[in-house]
Amino acid sequence: MEVTIVGAGLVGCLLACYLARRGHHVTLYERRPDPRERGPDRGRSINLAISQRGIDALRRLGLDGKVLHAALPMAGRMMHAPDGALTFQPYSADRSQAINSIGRADLNRELLEAASAQPGVEVRFGCRLTGLDERTGRLRFESGEEAAAGVVIGADGAHSAVRARLQQLPGVSFSQEYLDYGYKELSIPAGNGEFVMDPGALHIWPRGRSMMIALPNPDRSFTCTLFWPHDTLAALDTPQRIRAYFAEHYPDAFGLMPDLVADYRGNPVGHLVTMRCSPWHVRAGDAVVGLVGDAAHAIVPFYGQGANCGFEDCVELDRCLDEAGDDFPRALELFERRKADTDVIARLALDNFVEMRDKVGSRLFLAGKRVEHA
Ligand code: FAD
Repeated sequence: MEVTIVGAGLVGCLLACYLARRGHHVTLYERRPDPRERGPDRGRSINLAISQRGIDALRRLGLDGKVLHAALPMAGRMMHAPDGALTFQPYSADRSQAINSIGRADLNRELLEAASAQPGVEVRFGCRLTGLDERTGRLRFESGEEAAAGVVIGADGAHSAVRARLQQLPGVSFSQEYLDYGYKELSIPAGNGEFVMDPGALHIWPRGRSMMIALPNPDRSFTCTLFWPHDTLAALDTPQRIRAYFAEHYPDAFGLMPDLVADYRGNPVGHLVTMRCSPWHVRAGDAVVGLVGDAAHAIVPFYGQGANCGFEDCVELDRCLDEAGDDFPRALELFERRKADTDVIARLALDNFVEMRDKVGSRLFLAGKRVEHA
C-alpha cells in the first residue's frame, strides 16, 4: 500500500518504521530541511523524559538500544528548596526503573536514520503541506509540488495542517486549551568538564505558582526549563531584574548559570496547550486520512508523556492493522478506541503541573524542611 505521512518528527519517523516492516511504501513529507545537515535550534532544544511506554515502542523494532545509548537515566526527582536544601524522591524502590533524558533533536535524528534505512521509505524535506483534499488524498505543498495517496496520516504536530483540514469538515470536533503559562529554556553548563549537579535525577525547583526543572545532557550540561505565568516572564525586562529574581528564588541555580541573562533574553517563550480532536480519521471518496501523535492529542509536558504516547500510538495502530488485515480505513476506525487513553493522559498531565510546581514542594515541608514558595 502507498502511504503518505505528513511530518518527519518523532512519531512520523517511528510510524514509518512500523509501516515499512509491514511491507507498505511510505513517503514522509517534512516541512523543515534535513535536521542531520544543520545544528540545533537555540533555546528550543527540549529534553524529553522517555519512559517505559516509549521504550516499549522502540524495543519492538529493535531501536531501544541505539536510542537509549545517548540517554541519561534519571531514577527520581531532586527537589530544590528555596534555601538550597535538596531532597531526592525516587520514582521507584527499584533504582533500575528510571526515566531517560534525551534531547528531542538527537532522538529525531536517530529515528530519521532508522526510517530512511528502511526499504520502501522515502523522506522528502522542505515540503510544507498547505492543502489537502480528503476525498482524493491529493496533497499540495508550499513549493507548488503536488502528490496523492490513498492513505494520508498527519503526524505533523500540535499545529497540524492535516488536522486543520479535517477540522473544516462537518462531524469533526476540535478544542484547544492554552495555559496562562509559557516555558523558556536556560542552561547550566558543565564545570571543569563535569556535571555540577546530580545527573541521575530530574531536578525541580517548585515555587508554588511556578517552577523550574533541569534535565542532564551527555555533554555534562543541564537544560533548564522555566514554567512560569506569562506575566512573570514578561516582568523580568532588565538584566538587573533577571539577576535579582533568580538570586532570590533560585539561589543555588543562580550561581551555576553564567549565561543566565543572555539565555533569558535570547531564548523564546513557548506556549503550553492541550488539543483534542474527534474523530481522528475521515474516510471520504477513495482516500482515508488519519491523525497520530501531537496532531491527534497534544498535551502539556508535565507528565513527560507526549512523545511516549505518540510512540504508543504507533504500537496501537500496528495492532489495529493486524486486526484489520492491513485494511487502513478499518484499522484507523479501530484506532479511535485509543482516544479514551489519551484523554486520560491529557488530564493527568494538567494535574501533574500542580503536583510538580506545588505539592512536591509541600512534601519537603512535611519532611521537616523549610519551604517558601515564591
Ligand atoms: P512533532 O515532534 O511536533 O513533529 C511534527 C513534525 O511535523 C515536525 O518535524 C514538523 O516540522 C513537521 N510539520 C509540521 N507542520 C508540517 C506541515 N505543514 N508540512 C510538513 N511537515 C510539517 N514528551 C515526552 O514524552 N516526554 C517529555 O519529557 C516531554 N517534554 C516536553 C517538554 C516540552 C517543553 C515540550 C514542549 C514538549 C515535551 N514533550 C515531552 C512532548 C513531545 O515533544 C511531543 O509530544 C512530541 O514531540 C510529539 O511528536 P510528534 O511527532 O507528534 O510531533
